[in-house]
Amino acid sequence: HVKWRGKNGYQYYEASMNAMFHKKLSMENELRRAIEKKQIMLHYQPQVDVETRKIIGLEALARWHHPELGIISPTEFIPLAEETGLIFSLSEMLLGEACKQMQLWEAAGLLNFRLALNVSPQLVEEESFVSKTLSYIQSHHLKPEFFEIEITENLLVRDLENTVAKLKALGKHGIRIALDDFGTCYSSLSYLRQFPIHNIKIDKSFVGDINTHDESVPIITAISGIAKGFKLDLIAEGVETLQQMKTLHKMGCNIMQGYLFSKPLPAQNITTLLKRQANLFHKNGEPDDALI
Ligand code: C2E
Ligand code: MG
Ligand code: MG
Ligand code: MG
Repeated sequence: HVKWRGKNGYQYYEASMNAMFHKKLSMENELRRAIEKKQIMLHYQPQVDVETRKIIGLEALARWHHPELGIISPTEFIPLAEETGLIFSLSEMLLGEACKQMQLWEAAGLLNFRLALNVSPQLVEEESFVSKTLSYIQSHHLKPEFFEIEITENLLVRDLENTVAKLKALGKHGIRIALDDFGTCYSSLSYLRQFPIHNIKIDKSFVGDINTHDESVPIITAISGIAKGFKLDLIAEGVETLQQMKTLHKMGCNIMQGYLFSKPLPAQNITTLLKRQANLFHKNGEPDDALI
C-alpha cells in the first residue's frame, strides 16, 4: 500500500513503523528489567476432581506486576519473551519460584497435588532443558512426580524426534506431560502414537461454546474418546458455569479447571484453600462446598 498512498502516505507508514519499533524495543527493555527485579511472578489455578471435589493439581500462570501499568497478561509478554530470547531467563526464574513454593507447601504438609508448568517450544528445544528442569526440582528436594509440563501441539510440528526423546527422558523421572489447548492447532493425530503424553487439556474455546454451539459437543466427545483410547487423563480448562461442568462430566471428563472453581490466585491464597481442604477432609472425610 506504499505506492497507493503516495509520498505522504509512505512517510506516514515509515513513521508508524518507527514508533512500533521503538515501542517494542522499550517493552523488551522493560521486560528484561522486570525479570531482573522479579516483577514477574506466578499465580496458581486449582484443577479439581469434580467427583471427590479435591484439588488434585495446580497450574502455574505467569503475571507481570508492572509498577505503572498494573498486571500485564502473559498473552502479551510471553510472545515478546519468546521473540527476544528473554524466555530462557524468565522461565528459569519462574521454575525457581515454583520449586521454592512447592517446598513451602511440602513443609506445611499440604503437598498432595501436582504442579503444572507451561513451557515454550524454544525452551524444550534448548540443549539442557531436561537436565536443567530436573536439577531445579532435585536441588529443592522435591519429587519429579509432583510436576507436570504443559506443551502445545505447535512444538510437535517443529522437531518431533528431538522432542519425543526429551519428553520421554522427563517421563522416565516421573514428570508428566500434558498437551495444552488440544484441538486448536493444525496438526495431525498421528503423533499421538509415538508421543509420550499423560494428559490432554480440552481448550477453553470448546468448553465456552459447549452449551451454546452444538458443534463443540461432538468435538469434545471425540477428544474424550481419544483420551480413553490412549488411556490418557482428560482435563477441561475454562469451566465457568455449573451447566458446563455437568455437560463435561456427562461426556466423561472429571478433572476441571476454571473460574467456576477458582481464578488463578497468588500462592498465599492457594495455601488458604489447601489448608481448608485438608481440614475438611480430615474432620469428616467429606468436603463442604469449598470449591463447587
Ligand atoms: P494456558 O496455559 O492455556 O492457560 C489457561 C488460560 O486460561 C490462563 O490464561 C487462565 O488464566 C485462563 N483461564 C482459566 N480459567 C478460565 C475461565 O474459566 N475462563 C476464562 N475465560 N479463562 C480462564 P492466562 O493466565 O492469561 O495465560 C495465557 C497463556 O499464557 C497460557 O495459556 C499459557 O499458554 C501462557 N503462559 C502463562 N504462563 C506461562 C509461563 O510461565 N510460561 C509460558 N511459556 N507460557 C505461559
Ligand atoms: Mg496451560
Ligand atoms: Mg490451555
Ligand atoms: Mg493457551
